[in-house]
Parts: sequence; C-alpha cells; structure tokens
Amino acid sequence: VSRFEGITMAPPDPILGVSEAFKADTNDMKLNLGVGAYRTEELQPYVLEVVKKAENLMLQRGENKEYLPIEGLAAFNKATAELLFGADNPLLKEQKVATVQGLSGTGSLRLAAALIERYFPGAKVLISSPTWGNHKNIFNDARVPWSEYRYYDPKTVGLDFEGMIADIKDAPEGSFILLHGCAHNPTGIDPTPEQWEKIADVIQEKNHNPFFDVAYQGFASGSLDTDAASVRLFAARGMELFVAQSYSKNLGLYAERIGAMNVVCSSADAAVRVKSQLKRLARPMYSNPPIHGAKIVANVVGDPTLFNEWKVEMEMMAGRIKNVRQKLFDSLSAKDKSGKDWSFILKQIGMFSFTGLNIAQSENMTNKWHVYLTKDGRISLAGLSLAKCEYLADAIIDSFH
Ligand code: PMP
Repeated sequence: VSRFEGITMAPPDPILGVSEAFKADTNDMKLNLGVGAYRTEELQPYVLEVVKKAENLMLQRGENKEYLPIEGLAAFNKATAELLFGADNPLLKEQKVATVQGLSGTGSLRLAAALIERYFPGAKVLISSPTWGNHKNIFNDARVPWSEYRYYDPKTVGLDFEGMIADIKDAPEGSFILLHGCAHNPTGIDPTPEQWEKIADVIQEKNHNPFFDVAYQGFASGSLDTDAASVRLFAARGMELFVAQSYSKNLGLYAERIGAMNVVCSSADAAVRVKSQLKRLARPMYSNPPIHGAKIVANVVGDPTLFNEWKVEMEMMAGRIKNVRQKLFDSLSAKDKSGKDWSFILKQIGMFSFTGLNIAQSENMTNKWHVYLTKDGRISLAGLSLAKCEYLADAIIDSFH
C-alpha cells in the first residue's frame, strides 16, 4: 500500500480541464472556446511576427542564458512599467514604482498575494463576482482572506455598478480591491471612464488599496494606451497601488511565462523597500524568473520599428475578435425567433463573451454540439472563426431553449 493513500484525486481545473476534454473529443465539428488563447481564422495558434523578429535578433546577437537577477531583466522592468504607466509618467522619473519581473500574470499575482500575507496580516482582498477562476486559488494558497463584490447583473447582462460601489464601501477599511484593468474576465464588461472615477473615489474614501490585474493591455480596444487608462487614472490621483501585468495575450507569449508586478509607492524610498521584499519573497519560491520572454518584450518595446509593428499586429488580433463578435451577433439575431435581445454580445469587450448560458445549458453545448466552454457560460471569441459562427449560433439557440 502506498504512503500516498491519503492523497485524494484533485478535481480537474475548470478552465484548463476544458482543453483536456476537448482533446479527447473525436467529432469533426468540435470547437474549443474554453481557454483564452488567440487563434487565426483557421483556428491555429499564432506566433506574432514581431516575436519571431525579436527572437532572430537574439540569436544573431548570440545572447547567453545566464541567470537573471531575482527582480528580472532590468530592460524588461523598465519597458513594462513604461508601457503600463506611459513612458513620460512622472512616477517613473521619481522612481516611485517598484517593478519586478514575474512568472506571467499568475506568478505576479501570487507574489503580490505573498506580500499582502506578510505585511498586511488579516487584510482582505475583494474580488469581483464573477472573476477569473484562478484568483480564488491564488489568494487561498497564499492564505489571504477574500470576499466578493457585486459586479455582474444577470438581468441587464451588464455591470451592477450600484452593487459594486456599495460592496466596496462596506469592506473593512484598508482592504485590497482587485480590479480588472480592462476586458474583464469572464464577463467582458468594463466600467466606463466616469464609473472608474467613482470607483477611485470610494477606494480613496475608504482608504482601500487598489490592486489591478492587467492581463489584456492592448487586446481589449486594440490600443495599449486606451487599455491602460483605468490604471493611469488611479495613478494620476497619487494613490499607491498594485498592478500585475501579463504578456500572455497581447504578445502571444503564453508559455514563456512573462509578466510583472508593479507597486506604485508614494515615495522612492518606499519603492526601494517594497522591491527588496518582493525579491526576498521570490527567492525561495523560484529564485529568479526566465529570460527568454523578458528579452522578447524588451526588444519589441525598446525598438521603435518593432514596437510599431506590434501595435499593427495587436490591432489585427483585436480586429479579428471584433469581427467574429459581430458575426456571432448577426447570426444569433437572424436565426433566433424568440425575440431575445442579443445586443449584450456587442457591448462586451475583449477576448470573451459571457453568454448567460447556465451550467445545464453549457453542458448541452458540449454534449450535443461539441462546443467546449467553461461552465459559467463564458466563450472565448479568440477561439472562434467567422466560418464557425453560424454553427455556434445554432448551438447557443438550441441550448437556451
Ligand atoms: N488575470 C486574468 C484576469 C486573466 O484572464 C489571465 C489569463 N487567463 C491572467 C491573469 C494571467 O494569465 P497568465 O498567467 O497566463 O499571464
């Protein structure tokens, strides 16, 4: 008998488990709308041209693979903070931002969670209801207490702004308020600029700590600056804040695990101290981060030609998603005879659409139509082609009725 008898079987991951089920399906019509990964119209994975060019440059230069410092590649940390806050943001010149390279968005969030656990004992993190499934895992494993604030209103398939504000107001003073910088996952519903101002107001009033998760900069609107507007609005108010970044989606660097954790501090002195503690937390967890993705980002952002080419490719990706969004809406509106208003699909932004399908209906999508999605009814439009929109519309209508 094994000494591991006491270890029970873990449940499959609600998002990555969908890909495993998809792989096992042999039906020709199968469609994987589970994981948020960009696909071409032919539904193939896509490596950005600028990434290939940056990698070629790296090969030509014969760059080595020595260890990075604990805080990561200096050129990357500079580039990533500039991309987020704007290159001419005074915060950067004043050295008020502690930036460390992280293991993509997830690892950066996990590092911030460790900092909260160590230096803000008992402080609660407020996360949106619903949110990206891994947020709860991250704070649970870091032993950081969390609760939810209202976000999605099923009646309007829109933002429950009043509920959100009320819940943030009600939270114990000094809570961390986790906000999706843009392209909220899973709902695709973002606050308006006016609503962001009000959110900043209550967070300031209650002395809370804003904590942004920015996993889709450039991917929501197609513009890097537009998608960073929420973070910059808070920063411009002189608030101290946390921002986790990911390059999985906007540079298609999913498996390179490249991202960053930024802590905006009210003094350069505090930033130095915070950074030293982030490094201290990282060292026993993974020692130092990987170099390859960091160099790609530094090369793309640091080279004006590649940077401009990246923007064009990002617009192309965001544009393809907008096109399938429109086509899906058109197909649903044309085919559905029930009079249901599908316009919520066009109002949502980013990679995902939150369909409003419940668990049983989502199961019908998979079992009968071989369409794979998360059980909360979220579909990744990045995994959809124009050619498959009609089929998907049939599946959705059948599953709703
Ligand atoms: N936050 C959100 C809201 C996300 O959707 C994602 C990607 N699915 C991440 C963080 C981080 O992903 P990664 O670790 O691949 O960068």
